[in-house]
Amino acid sequence: MTGQMIEGAGRGAEAPKLAMIANADLSGVVRGRSFPIERLDAVMASGLPWVPANVLLSPLNTIPAGNPFGPVGETRLRAGGGRPMILPARGERPAVVFHIADICTTDDASWPVCPRGQLKRAVDDLASEHGLRLEVGFEHELFITGLQETPTPAFSLMGTRAVSGIADEVQAMLRTAGTRLDQFVAEFGAHQFEIAAPVLDALAAADHAVLSREAIRDAARARGTHATFAPKPFANAPGNGVHIHLSLWRGDAPVTAAEDALAPEGAAFLAGVLAHLPSVLAFTLGSVNSYERLLPSNWVGIYRCWGERNREAAVRFCPRTRSADGRNPGASLEYRLADGSASPHLALAAIIRAGMAGLAQGLALPDGVDCDPAGLTAEERKARGIDDLPPTLDAALSGLEKSGLARAWFGELFEAAFFSVCRNDVGDAARLGEAYRAQFAQTI
Ligand code: GLU
Ligand code: MG
Repeated sequence: MTGQMIEGAGRGAEAPKLAMIANADLSGVVRGRSFPIERLDAVMASGLPWVPANVLLSPLNTIPAGNPFGPVGETRLRAGGGRPMILPARGERPAVVFHIADICTTDDASWPVCPRGQLKRAVDDLASEHGLRLEVGFEHELFITGLQETPTPAFSLMGTRAVSGIADEVQAMLRTAGTRLDQFVAEFGAHQFEIAAPVLDALAAADHAVLSREAIRDAARARGTHATFAPKPFANAPGNGVHIHLSLWRGDAPVTAAEDALAPEGAAFLAGVLAHLPSVLAFTLGSVNSYERLLPSNWVGIYRCWGERNREAAVRFCPRTRSADGRNPGASLEYRLADGSASPHLALAAIIRAGMAGLAQGLALPDGVDCDPAGLTAEERKARGIDDLPPTLDAALSGLEKSGLARAWFGELFEAAFFSVCRNDVGDAARLGEAYRAQFAQTI
């Protein structure tokens, strides 16, 4: 295995001397243990011990007082499937083999607080209860600070050239894991960029999100620049969204849309997501910083509605070219209210749980919205059933607590850990005031 991975790093590349297995935690921060490459086979076979309370660490490295785990107990990090990614040698830093890991109990069952384990369960339940699978394409926006270039026009050749060195290196890293990015473009904000991942099965898509964030951070750092996926790193610049394109499949048959309209399965899934959106929000907008991004008429999608090709709706329905048999295999539901401070695994798990509720109850889909809801009066929005969403993390958490869905979807232990992490972030932000945003952007 080691030999095959070294080959994957490219001819002439320095052989990795270190390996690391790590879990993307409740805040989407990648944490784990690193060890010499000679131990890789043994670690692949039996994992490494992991402290339960580690999952509670915030992006600012604080830990909630009164955490549900305390000092006692043990879990294990176990490398999850999929090829590892190799981070190249850079100066005095050796190459590293990086494996995404699950957090398991000491007898190797999935630990309920592990976001990756929760996504696996949601994917399995979607298959066993509804015979469906979800394909997912993640788009991430990010800023790279410290670039020499003066800001260049959005989507321009020169804007793209400003980061083509980083993009090239990120592609090389992802290639070692057998994957790639489909796009790397200059976005609207000065030194803001966007990456689009290939469409993959849900678990692989969430893993890919983790790999691509880490690859970009590493390539940016190597040049003395800094990449941030924080939802609102600067008060006066556009925010960074994570847009999650979802498509439902029954075997090989696309069931999101037929012809140019939503198909019954796609409509019921979407109805569930909208019905539970206030609760799903806490899992997809994971930080106090998330809610600073939620401005009207900024293409964020802050209202609880869907719309065909509408970028001001929380979910944009995107029909694509239909095939001769009337199917619409490229169609997707773009969930727009996610960001880089959420665990991609958890975000998807919550979206799937909400969508499954729509499928199970055959929920009816409200009418789509074909305008910017901010341009309507509050009464007009009310008449069309377009609700406001929780404006702060605190409000989203209170709503989630009342709904009981964190426990219903993910269990009691998970619920305790999740609320503890989120409320700690609320505490970090209150304690730091204005300094919170910049510190948060150092990690996320
Ligand atoms: N930057 C916007 C956001 O915060 C999204 C812009 C776009 O549609 O790409 O979500
Ligand atoms: Mg964008």
